[in-house]
Amino acid sequence: MMTTLRRTKIVVTLGPSLDDLDMLERVIIAGANVFRANFSHGSLQTHEQRINNVRNIAKKHGKVVAILIDLQGPKIRIGRFKNKKIQLEEGQAFILDTKLGSDEGTEKSVSLDYKNLLHDVHSGDTLLLDDGRIVLIVEKIKEHCIYCQVVVGGELSNNKGINRLGGGLSAKALTDKDRSDIIDAVRLHADYLAISFPRNADDVKEARTLLKAAGGNAGIIAKIERSEAVTHIEEITKAADGIMVARGDLGVELGDAELPGVQKNIIHTARTLNKPVITATQMLETMTYNTIPTRAEVSDVANAVLDGTDAVMLSQESAIGKYPDKAVAALDRICRSAEKNPISKRSRHRMDIQFKYVDETIAMATMYTANHLDIKAIIALTESGTTPLWMSRVRSSIPIYGLSRHPSTQRRMALYRGVYPITFDATHIDRRVINQSAVHELQRRGIIKEGDLVIITKGDLIGIHGRTNSMKIMTVEGLKNPEAGSGGPS
Ligand code: PGA
Ligand code: MN
Repeated sequence: MMTTLRRTKIVVTLGPSLDDLDMLERVIIAGANVFRANFSHGSLQTHEQRINNVRNIAKKHGKVVAILIDLQGPKIRIGRFKNKKIQLEEGQAFILDTKLGSDEGTEKSVSLDYKNLLHDVHSGDTLLLDDGRIVLIVEKIKEHCIYCQVVVGGELSNNKGINRLGGGLSAKALTDKDRSDIIDAVRLHADYLAISFPRNADDVKEARTLLKAAGGNAGIIAKIERSEAVTHIEEITKAADGIMVARGDLGVELGDAELPGVQKNIIHTARTLNKPVITATQMLETMTYNTIPTRAEVSDVANAVLDGTDAVMLSQESAIGKYPDKAVAALDRICRSAEKNPISKRSRHRMDIQFKYVDETIAMATMYTANHLDIKAIIALTESGTTPLWMSRVRSSIPIYGLSRHPSTQRRMALYRGVYPITFDATHIDRRVINQSAVHELQRRGIIKEGDLVIITKGDLIGIHGRTNSMKIMTVEGLKNPEAGSGGPS
């Protein structure tokens, strides 16, 4: 019988733990929807191998999974220490020296990969190292050195990141490495490209220009991880195809206590502007080494779902953790439970605005109808996935099946909350029987049955993007030549 589908999607970061192919297979079976290759670490060859592994196993199981390539961006880091690490004591002096050799760090000073930090900081600024574990106050800037005092000490090891509390660092979002990584991302057929540390819409637009020039059409995900990005959240969201609440760096720049409220605003903005949103970082952090999450982690994931996120993401839990499969299973059960809450099922989304497009209007009318009538499934015949994306911005418990002939569209839709991609080519079907064929496709998969009420949306011109102009409510008839049900959506 029909089981309730999970609506919130799961993004899994690739890493050494998923080089174990049995583990990767279990993660895919457990329900991973998108895999993230984190270009901050590892060689291109390693990423390529991991992406191929994902595609092979997904294909074996008939699953549609998307690949997200995450560019490193201008993460500012200290250099290395002569003895790999040092111990900093509260109250001591410490120097960030832009002219020191990159392996010459000691208890007194360390080098920096971003020389311009010298001009970006002022005395009195707070600098946070290693995700905020070490806190420095800038005392003065002189010649090539930033003189600091240690406020919170501890162990500091090679290449740790630096953030400035409050943001305001001038580093451009796209580094030379990112520019060449974009070309590789196109060659590897990434479905999504994540831009790290964009400050504003121009950074996102520049990435799109480079992506287009390289011949790619991946969806661009803007990672919100700088204070400036929060200030420019609307323009960034409009310029991107989706956003990520990148809580690691964002929490350091804003201060951790600001994060929950900001997360809610970012997710709301994304939904309002019809873009998907991923909530990322430390979602099940303790599952890196434990088989079960903490109660606080369970609540955090559930709250992101209640906030309306499209997807929740695993980082080190899956990349280097001991239990990636159990972490995915935990996300799966937490999401399903949170989705039972009434606030996940009803929506006043776009109730008081004027629509601009016909396909947008059809999507909204469909969701209004589905949420107020006993509809079992929404069947959207789609070229680009735009109509299902619009539909998925409305909170609902009715599954939205995105039927498309394009594998790339199917993979894009893998990220959208409540949308389930299905392979279906309507271009060679007689127009008079397209509705029935689409319904039969879902019946064959055991998704719907005789007597169910469904809504179908499509355009008069099949195979053309942006032309959805009709919705039809249909009662499913009995199959004339029933074949064995095969598996449901991927
Ligand atoms: P990262 O981005 O894992 O690439 O740092 C996510 C974050 O900052 O939260
Ligand atoms: Mn980050």
